[in-house]
Amino acid sequence: MYILQEKLFDIPTINLVQKEVYSILSSIVDKNGNINKKTVERYCIPYSEEKVLKTIHSSKLKKLSNDLFIANKEKPIKINITLSANTNTYFPTKKEIRISIPLPAIYALNTYIKNGCSNIFEVNKFHFRNSRKWKKGITQFKDFANEYENAIIHEVSHWVDDALHNSFFEKLKVFADQIRLSKEEFDLLYANTPMDSMFFEINAQIHVIENLRKKNIGKWDSITMEDAILSHSGLRAVFSSLYKSGFFLVNQWIQILLKRLSREGLLSASMQTLNQYEIQRMLKYITIREERTIIV
Ligand SMILES: [Zn+2]
Repeated sequence: MYILQEKLFDIPTINLVQKEVYSILSSIVDKNGNINKKTVERYCIPYSEEKVLKTIHSSKLKKLSNDLFIANKEKPIKINITLSANTNTYFPTKKEIRISIPLPAIYALNTYIKNGCSNIFEVNKFHFRNSRKWKKGITQFKDFANEYENAIIHEVSHWVDDALHNSFFEKLKVFADQIRLSKEEFDLLYANTPMDSMFFEINAQIHVIENLRKKNIGKWDSITMEDAILSHSGLRAVFSSLYKSGFFLVNQWIQILLKRLSREGLLSASMQTLNQYEIQRMLKYITIREERTIIV
């Protein structure tokens, strides 16, 4: 029996899983940017399907830290690296984490090959029908390649949270499935707090920010809340989605993050509440970034 509490888990960089993701990504696009035609063609599975490329059992992670050791003992799972149109997810009832290489990105790579482009760094030279849409797909591939470490940390922290706290996540999921709750109805359950601002999502988001600090140890105090949120696609997505539901919600989310960061001793000297101007500026940055053809 463990008491449900807020605390950061010791989740060291999961090199083992990262190495596998890296090796799969390199088989699609090599380090010089060359697109592997055969692999891409083989990976163009229908959008409705999901292909498991590699499975890693959690027992392989148990030596990394005490928290991972206990999590594996309480709730062993498998981490599947998949090819899918769905996003990365922790499935408590299936005892599975899915880290998904985005299928739209594979389709984009395939379209470029078909149009005579064999290197990811040269896509800007190619213009054809729906070019903009496909360039977005390439950006998605690059974002995934740059940020899968954080995606792994986010999902692994959900699993450790669940395993160390009486399977609360699993129970919540079973309950929501039983009464067939939609995401919106689920949000209403918790006094109208969107799922992205709930304690378990905040917990996973904080682990990602902690990882950001590990990477920026020398200059952490110059990192603002704006920098932290904009640095990771998962946090950018939460920001945009909450903003769409109302300025108040995005503001509330930032307040919750700040409070938790302060409690964990992760607050940098430059982190503070964001004003309306800063929030608008972030939104503009995200929109332009999404619309921009490609980020090299
Ligand atoms: Zn999450």
